[in-house]
Amino acid sequence: MFKKILIANRGEIALRILRACRELGIKTVAIHSDADEAAMHVRMSDESICVGPASAQSSYLNIPAIITSATMSNVDAIHPGYGFLSENKRFAEIIEEHNIKFIGPSSEHIGMMGNKILAKKIMIDNGVPVVPGIDKVNDENEIKSFIKKVELPVIIKASSGGGGKGMRVVYKEEDLQESIAAAKVESKKSFNDDTVYIEKFLTKPKHIEIQILSDSHGNVVTLGERDCSIQRKHQKLIEESPSNLLTSEQRKEISSLCQKAIKTIGYEGAGTIEFLFENGKFYFMEMNTRLQVEHPVTEMVTGIDLVREQIEIANGKKLSIKQEDINLKGHSIECRINAEHPENFIPSPGTITQYHQPGGLGIRVDSAVYQGYSIPSHYDSMIGKLITYADNRSECISKMKRALEEYVIMGINTNIQLHQKIIKSKEFISGKYDINFLSKFLQFK
Ligand code: ADP
Repeated sequence: MFKKILIANRGEIALRILRACRELGIKTVAIHSDADEAAMHVRMSDESICVGPASAQSSYLNIPAIITSATMSNVDAIHPGYGFLSENKRFAEIIEEHNIKFIGPSSEHIGMMGNKILAKKIMIDNGVPVVPGIDKVNDENEIKSFIKKVELPVIIKASSGGGGKGMRVVYKEEDLQESIAAAKVESKKSFNDDTVYIEKFLTKPKHIEIQILSDSHGNVVTLGERDCSIQRKHQKLIEESPSNLLTSEQRKEISSLCQKAIKTIGYEGAGTIEFLFENGKFYFMEMNTRLQVEHPVTEMVTGIDLVREQIEIANGKKLSIKQEDINLKGHSIECRINAEHPENFIPSPGTITQYHQPGGLGIRVDSAVYQGYSIPSHYDSMIGKLITYADNRSECISKMKRALEEYVIMGINTNIQLHQKIIKSKEFISGKYDINFLSKFLQFK
């Protein structure tokens, strides 16, 4: 087994990885910026190294400084977490060149799935249903006949996109060219790649994703789905597993298609295949080649520690779990706790003056904050995740209601109140919400 792992991340996910390492008897090296000297992931690690000033560009995205830290501290592997460098092909490549194990897929697979146009082609070749689309955005005739076939609205998306950036929905044909141009500019700015493609815009879909685990010996298992349809500006806010709209036949069918595709491409590690789900049909959107923020809900209903599995797979171990042993049991919901104003969503960095986190049976809090901690302004506003687990969905919602009431975070603004309102709403309780729910809810509440 690995003796020492460097965690190339911060916040709750750095802590999550550190905990898995500790249980496996692996030493940890934390990296941090100047602004994160007092952060919990630094305090809890066995060693820590400052990799640069506060800005993410100079620290958590600073590849030379991270590689130097890894070599200096003699680690066997690097876990990238999510965000930052987790889906950076070049980072994985450099790590491979230094004979350090990247805990995740090969740089080749990161590159393959990071290109959304290519990823869709691979899925089509493997019989996975995709959102109808075209990638020749310069050919006006082709666009016209595509629109005739699928009908407006359509959505322009960035091939290298992520985090909901570079997307434009087009409702009128005359807006098309301007939207393509705008999406290209935004995509170039955010991802240094102006390749965009067009997809049919589904008007009332759910966002449903399938978790997979694949070892280096060709064994692939799927761990059910997550419903991530409560979104704000295409970013997830509440996730749950299982989705109460899927029948076990639909789950089985989509899972086995995913399993087959992943096996064919020879992918290694954890991954998520994201779909839109409308009128009983699945449409592949993209694959994320890393651990997801919302992985805990899958862990709760399967009893499988995904980070531990990632580490063991990276170490060359065969998957010990068989597909027939995976049963989704009970229900789990996750609320992302953000340091932001509940109405206008402006980030709210600052010092937490009072802190009390909920507990009890079926409550899990993945967070790295504590009383007296100062949230820096330089990074993402998510400061934790509140996860509940119960035998069924309605008990899980009751637990979430109780846990949110108990959660005290003073000194900064948080979205706890917003979560309370959402989970009490009749749409959320019915489970029939789609990806438009939150924007409508915010307008009329
Ligand atoms: P990103 O990688 O930027 O997160 P995704 O392709 O995963 O982009 O899409 C993010 C979200 O954008 C989806 O969950 C959905 O809400 C919306 N979206 C993307 N494509 C479509 C589509 N074709 N129709 C409707 N909504 C879409």
